[in-house]
Amino acid sequence: MAKMYYNGDANKNYLNGKTVAVIGYGSQGHAHALNMRDSGVNVVVGLRKGKSWEKAEQDGLKVYSVGEATAQADVVMVLLPDEMQPKVYKEEIEPNLTNQALMFAHGFNVHFNQIVPPKESDVLLVAPKGPGHLVRRTYQEEAGVPALFAIYQDVTGEAKELALSYTQAIGSLRAGALETTFKEETETDLFGEQAVLCGGLTSLVKAGFETLVEAGYQPELAYFECLHELKLIVDLMYEGGLEGMRYSISDTAQWGDFVSGPRVVNDDVKKEMKAVLKDIQEGRFAKGWILENQANRPEFNAINEREKEHPIELVGRELRKMMPFVNKDKKKEVVASAS
Ligand code: NDP
Ligand code: MG
Ligand code: MG
Repeated sequence: MAKMYYNGDANKNYLNGKTVAVIGYGSQGHAHALNMRDSGVNVVVGLRKGKSWEKAEQDGLKVYSVGEATAQADVVMVLLPDEMQPKVYKEEIEPNLTNQALMFAHGFNVHFNQIVPPKESDVLLVAPKGPGHLVRRTYQEEAGVPALFAIYQDVTGEAKELALSYTQAIGSLRAGALETTFKEETETDLFGEQAVLCGGLTSLVKAGFETLVEAGYQPELAYFECLHELKLIVDLMYEGGLEGMRYSISDTAQWGDFVSGPRVVNDDVKKEMKAVLKDIQEGRFAKGWILENQANRPEFNAINEREKEHPIELVGRELRKMMPFVNKDKKKEVVASAS
């Protein structure tokens, strides 16, 4: 078993008297800033004028331009969208760095050389393994979302102490943290979201829905079967692993799981997963995404529009209108979780 870190492993005084600048106030940004503030850390937020700025001020935080926040901080946590980070870093963060520790929640830009940190700074990442809105909600419930941390550069010799203290302040050491590297975090995060959590899942759901509808079954029923019910199953897996889920389903369902599951996700699928992983490891995925952004996302936008019109979305939109309880207060989390 890998070493897990919990609250007792952190020096909870390490951030005392230090200022942490949280750059960005989106899904992760608001959660890190508010959790740290509630943990007694001196937090400032760095933003451009706009919606997030207003929101952070309404939440009682001190907000500055990205440059001003960076300049006054001891620790700078970059929580901007990954594709915006290189430009904002170059123009507003880097010119204001003296020897602040530089932190990220995802290794993408450093690992793929889109941000080259200065030699004088400690560079590390703390990546909660969950959507930002849950990082905030679980903190308020005295719980937490597990996290990864990694040290890229340790100039002061204190990088690990900072990583653990930060992880504790956002509540993640209540759930446990695991040490990794920028390379491992980046590659596994991209693989997880592409092959399993987001890409694998949406494709599995759509294929199941289409199979039923093309065979003449009612789309509403197919929606309940292949999408709605998934959450109930995933909740059981979250609580008790595969065994816990299988304990709750019928033996018929469990037998079907054993005999048909491997026919659907078969060796060909796994071969394709390995190819997806290779594209990530060799930088091809990163290169395509960087170029797509430089071209103003023509393909991203085209696919996004087409996906919104998929029959599962049309039928789902109607059905969810009659189930206001399923997305009350939660809509944002669902949107934010695909990160
Ligand atoms: P969001 O898209 O939710 O955050 C956007 C924030 O950045 C907004 O506050 C936005 O402000 C601000 N912003 C955007 N452009 C600029 C700019 N030019 N100058 C100043 N502020 C700007 O990001 P996420 O929280 O999803 O992601 C942040 C990091 O966390 C990423 O590295 C991501 O990989 C990582 N991560 C995210 C997870 C998640 O749950 N989403 C999970 C784990 C890691 P405005 O309102 O002005 O647009
Ligand atoms: Mg992730
Ligand atoms: Mg990600």
